[in-house]
Amino acid sequence: MTKLDRIFETLPTDLYIGGDWRPGAEGARFDVINPADETVLASVASATTADADAALDAAEAAFADWAGRTSRERAEVLRRAWELMTAQLEDFARLITLENGKARADAMGEAAYAAEFFRWFAEEAVRADGLVTRGPSTGARIVVQHKPAGIAVLVTPWNYPAAMGTRKIAPALAAGCPVIIKPASETPLTMLALMPLLEEAGVPKGLVNVLPSRRSGALVDHLMHDPRVRVISFTGSTQVGRKLLHGAADQVLKPAMELGGNAPLIVFEDADLDQAVEGAMLAKMRNLGEACTAANRFYVHEAVAEAFARRMTEAMGALKLGDGREEGVDVGPLVNADTRDKVHAFVEDAVAKGARLRLGGQLPGGKGFYYPPTVLTDVPETADCVRDEIFGPVVAMQTFTDTEDVIRRANDTEYGLVAYVFSGDFRRGLQVCERLDYGMVGLNRGLVSDPAAPFGGTKQSGLGREGGHEGMHEFMETQYISAEW
Ligand code: NAD
Repeated sequence: MTKLDRIFETLPTDLYIGGDWRPGAEGARFDVINPADETVLASVASATTADADAALDAAEAAFADWAGRTSRERAEVLRRAWELMTAQLEDFARLITLENGKARADAMGEAAYAAEFFRWFAEEAVRADGLVTRGPSTGARIVVQHKPAGIAVLVTPWNYPAAMGTRKIAPALAAGCPVIIKPASETPLTMLALMPLLEEAGVPKGLVNVLPSRRSGALVDHLMHDPRVRVISFTGSTQVGRKLLHGAADQVLKPAMELGGNAPLIVFEDADLDQAVEGAMLAKMRNLGEACTAANRFYVHEAVAEAFARRMTEAMGALKLGDGREEGVDVGPLVNADTRDKVHAFVEDAVAKGARLRLGGQLPGGKGFYYPPTVLTDVPETADCVRDEIFGPVVAMQTFTDTEDVIRRANDTEYGLVAYVFSGDFRRGLQVCERLDYGMVGLNRGLVSDPAAPFGGTKQSGLGREGGHEGMHEFMETQYISAEW
């Protein structure tokens, strides 16, 4: 029996509520599809509102004990989760590849990144800050402390089935909150597979509950309207985020929203082109472009545009497309047919409006949701891919000559998640970074995600930050006591 078969022998597919596996109140199930060959990987229980109530009861029952533990005790559980996950990276990576499609190297990267959140927040848990002082005019003693906010509902997307979950679970647990997770319907298996590991790490029953559902809207709405819930933490599209913000308003929930992006990547004429191509490949092709951080609009100075385009085309053309499980494959399939068709429509639209297709751009036939690495140059401002997230392996290049003009074009979007700047002049690079209206900027780097840094966007890319020191605050309330003693 191969290692993979063993994973499947024990792969949980039911709901995880109060530390038990349950088929769901209505017994409904839905299929999870392998995007590489369109076969059914598993049939997963679909949660309904009765299951949501059971999860809320379990979370409520677990809350006082967990919140009452010392932060050191909580940290030790998180630390064990990091150790256990780190020992099983290969298994998690295989599962991620199976349900999401991404190639092995990307999946290993995600699994390691996902595990790091447990280590980072184990370390953060014991660094809670507070304040004791006296009011300068009143002389009253002021005591400020942070308390766990309460039950948190976590809703995650399919593009990082492990990391988008652990980036929320770890800070919530560190802060003392119980959680109910609704993973994406395309990729619920990785989150379910994490639960036995959390049990082994010492996470008490009921503290973490997982509710996959094919009726996400109704389920999450029901959860958000229960007065026991205090936090809604969402990662996904701006469109759904907006709906959840409306819902959150009814109970005045603390919202944390990691939404869409439309990242500009600017290459100045003095950039080190080796560094720029390497960074651009990472910014574009990590997770085959299915990332909110993916470089979406390439602005290249006219003086180096042809050289950069040639080298990007070479680098993109050298990538091997195929089943992510196979050795040597760099680019797996996209997650589903809709995503692939949307990517293709962006390419067709750009070409119809005058872009030059240098590589790829053809829909392959056969099974699996594959899309080839594609390079477009001379993309007009009117192309849809300049306004919207491509979410696929497509480099869309434009040129510029004037710094002020490129800053204006880079900022001309309702999104503000991440931007990338490549320049050999560090001073100029930094000045441009500061003028970009983005929550994160990569300067001569194509990768900004780091558990130690506050991840998040401005404008319609979201509210709040995940990771870093800020990540835990999304799950805490500040209390101030005015005291005499
Ligand atoms: P999505 O918004 O369609 O779905 C995200 C999650 O919300 C899934 O679990 C889905 O089942 C659930 N959902 C869908 N409709 C819902 C509703 N009405 N009420 C409650 N929940 C609902 O997004 P997606 O297609 O899974 O992911 C891609 C999007 O996520 C992209 O826009 C990408 O930029 C964004 N994203 C953002 C970040 C970030 O950190 N900013 C990270 C990853 C992905």
